[in-house]
Amino acid sequence: MTHPDIKAENKLHEGKAKVIFSTGDPALLIQYFKDDATAFNGKKKGTIEDKGVFNNEISSHVFGMLESRGVKTHFVRRLSEREMLVKKVEIVPVEVVVRNVVAGSLAKRMGAPTGQKLSEPIIELYYKDDALGDPMINRWHIRAFSLGTDEEMDVIEKQALIINTLLVEFFGGIGLTLVDYKLEFGRSPEGILLADEISPDGCRLWDTNSGEILDKDRFRQDLGNLTQSYQEVSRRVSSTVK
Ligand code: ADP
Ligand code: UDP
Repeated sequence: MTHPDIKAENKLHEGKAKVIFSTGDPALLIQYFKDDATAFNGKKKGTIEDKGVFNNEISSHVFGMLESRGVKTHFVRRLSEREMLVKKVEIVPVEVVVRNVVAGSLAKRMGAPTGQKLSEPIIELYYKDDALGDPMINRWHIRAFSLGTDEEMDVIEKQALIINTLLVEFFGGIGLTLVDYKLEFGRSPEGILLADEISPDGCRLWDTNSGEILDKDRFRQDLGNLTQSYQEVSRRVSSTVK
């Protein structure tokens, strides 16, 4: 069932993985999850059958869990298979990457072996700008280019660490190692809220026992069984709901 607000004239933004629609309430938006997948700064494109359904399901459960543990998020409720009702925010144009285990660009940057557990989490900040390829920045860039205030970034980094503790425990409980992931935050009348999505599109998730990759790296590296991996994460995440 498609929500009546999902229509062309309400389309505000079509991104790489989701479409954002306005609703009758100016404070609320609908995120529509697509099957489209991109990697390497949009150079590789494809679709993963039913990815949108699984990502909506995973993200809804994860945001619900975070809310229940006191994290302020944009999540209101899942409306249908591919639609999520969220609070409208002004996205802070800084992607917050949190890392627990060495992988991806960190392995290259530090010359460290993929899979090495970090003694403590790392927070990295990237300028959210597709045309520039999301370059890495730091708090000095954020101040000098007015991307956010020090107060906002203090809240965001503090929240990111709390979220990380909760997510590591949550995924650990369903046999998944949360290697690294990207968070987005936004400004709202209620203050800074965690926004966007938390799904295998923006997280590295490895099966803790077998080491099997269950995230978008399967698409990046042409490992196959794409739908099955997203489905497996969704199955495990949904199994946590009493
Ligand atoms: P992109 O635009 O980077 O290709 P998506 O396809 O995921 O990414 O599109 C979703 C867009 O909606 C992103 O730009 C994201 O920052 C933005 N967004 C996520 N949550 C909210 C929200 N609650 N309010 C406003 N914008 C949001
Ligand atoms: N990530 C993301 N969107 C981005 C950049 C990174 O979702 O634009 C996620 C990515 O999926 C991984 C983590 O952030 O889980 C760290 O990514 P990394 O810097 O290693 O970049 P990659 O090697 O994936 O390009």
